[in-house]
Amino acid sequence: MYYYYDDQNVLQGPYSNSALQKWFQKQYLPAGTLVYDKYMQPFLIEYVVNRSLKSRTKVMFHDDTFNLDRTNLDVTLHLCSPELSNTTSSSEDFTQLEGGVDEVDFGRGFDYIEQRALLNRRRRFPDTYCPFENTWNNWVPEPIEMNVALRGAIHTHNMVQTFDERIISGYLNFLNIYPHPCQLCDVKFSNSKEMLEHFLSVIHIQRSYKTGGTFSYIDLYCARKIIYEVEMSYADKNFDFLADDVHFQSRKMSFFDEFDILTAFESLKSTVAVSQGVPLLSPPRNTLDTLGYVEAVVFLRVFQEKYKRMPEALRGRRFGPTGKTWCNYCKVEFDATFLESFPTHLFSEEHIDNALYNGVSRADMEYWLSFMEPLMNGNCKRVRHQDRVEVSLQESDFPLCYVPVGRVEGDFSYTGKDMQPVLKYVSDEIAASFDLLDDYKYRTTCRWCRTDLFTRNGVLRHILHDKCHLDRLNSVSNDDLRRLLCSLDIKIRVPLFRQSKRTSSPMDVKEKKFYLQRLRNVCSKKLNNFFSSHQRSTLSQLAARSFPVGLVNRCDLCDVTIDRVDAMIMHLSSEQHIANLIESPRISNNDVQYWLTIFNVDGRRSRVF
Ligand SMILES: [Zn+2]
Ligand SMILES: [Zn+2]
Ligand SMILES: [Zn+2]
Ligand SMILES: [Zn+2]
Repeated sequence: MYYYYDDQNVLQGPYSNSALQKWFQKQYLPAGTLVYDKYMQPFLIEYVVNRSLKSRTKVMFHDDTFNLDRTNLDVTLHLCSPELSNTTSSSEDFTQLEGGVDEVDFGRGFDYIEQRALLNRRRRFPDTYCPFENTWNNWVPEPIEMNVALRGAIHTHNMVQTFDERIISGYLNFLNIYPHPCQLCDVKFSNSKEMLEHFLSVIHIQRSYKTGGTFSYIDLYCARKIIYEVEMSYADKNFDFLADDVHFQSRKMSFFDEFDILTAFESLKSTVAVSQGVPLLSPPRNTLDTLGYVEAVVFLRVFQEKYKRMPEALRGRRFGPTGKTWCNYCKVEFDATFLESFPTHLFSEEHIDNALYNGVSRADMEYWLSFMEPLMNGNCKRVRHQDRVEVSLQESDFPLCYVPVGRVEGDFSYTGKDMQPVLKYVSDEIAASFDLLDDYKYRTTCRWCRTDLFTRNGVLRHILHDKCHLDRLNSVSNDDLRRLLCSLDIKIRVPLFRQSKRTSSPMDVKEKKFYLQRLRNVCSKKLNNFFSSHQRSTLSQLAARSFPVGLVNRCDLCDVTIDRVDAMIMHLSSEQHIANLIESPRISNNDVQYWLTIFNVDGRRSRVF
């Protein structure tokens, strides 16, 4: 059962999957619409609809000791049959098994491949994971012994043989698995079916184990899942995956492809400072940003491979805060001053456990892969002389960089002890809505500190976090902050300019009309003062002592952008805004009180920070 928000932002539901399916097909709820389960976890509607159309794959858990919360998994729990555990320890002669293995232990599995096809299109990096192709390092969850791997692989191999080459190869291509040589055995293949059959062969698996790696239940589960999917498509006579347009594009370019090594590292360091954390050391912010379980494991391996291919010299470079870096998963501090200390923690047993349990952020992973991609093989752009041309920026071009010039009328500043909480608020807002993969070249020099800066994030880090710069700053202009937030597309809203959280107590219409009228009277009085007696300072004083009111740049209820402090007060008492407030079902008494307190009504002192 799922819920969704209608045009009026009212929660509708619960509705069944088939209802969603119907509305999705009729475009009444188009792709991209968010629907919510009973725990109010968001999902894309196409994901929910596709999932209900897909197979009812049975999944076996082989190990009760794993600490995953199974209530979140859309899978059926099966216990392993007793005869299964007997057979695994039987013969070492696997050629006997090739005739028929009908019961195989498939371990713990997840609805990985159901998600893959959907998520691949939204990813910057396609994964090219083919089960049983490459062994894993010792950090992989649930490694399996060779005889277990062989039994599962042979069983799957026998199934693959029964499929039409065009169908199974087509399905593998749909999963981004295209024919390529086996590096280990040095064999070439003419199609994906042939290739998969090789990876599932006794010779390939035995050779793989001899190199010291291991396979995992993930390989078994994913191989099994491919078989189920193809069987289902035969049963339903649905071969949509053979269409041309299912193939996703190759890797998207990132700004790192344009950076030289120096700039790339500056950007990384700055991003770590501005986002207030090292990517991959915190759980994802939401479900949509969370990699699927197996997807996360696959990408961790990709991370490791890319890191190994980075030149030694680059691994010793600085990237994080000096001394201690905090891992939000493991709740420990470790020294990540230099790049090489990062993977040591990332691939520690404790961290892998914690990260897979709490989820890994897709944005964070894509950030690291984008960063390493051009640095591997020393492919990173050489610093050419013309790249070094310094852009001469006029003062006030970048907010907070220099003493503001050309003051905006009605503008005001925060000074003295007010500055620190203001800057902290702004830094936190920026960190909270920071798009990691969003940086660009911005060569400039801070004239105060005589510091060269190379990227946009470098400038942000400098003005918000570098001590040398903050020590010189003795006043912050409100207009500067507004321009800064606006340039980063960060929306600041306060009560009555946004929908309240649904937990607060809503008012009935009569009560609401009474309070809003009262608020409007107060507003008009302020505005009258403002226009009649030219007390331009009144509003700025009001905004200055009721931070962050001076930064509000957006009204969600009316869907408008607000460009100045006085425009905001005018908007608050406008006909349109009041009408929208009356209509909105989620305006609470606290929202109105917030403003009455600012206007110093009800005998309360105005809120100062
Ligand atoms: Zn091979
Ligand atoms: Zn950790
Ligand atoms: Zn500076
Ligand atoms: Zn409004």
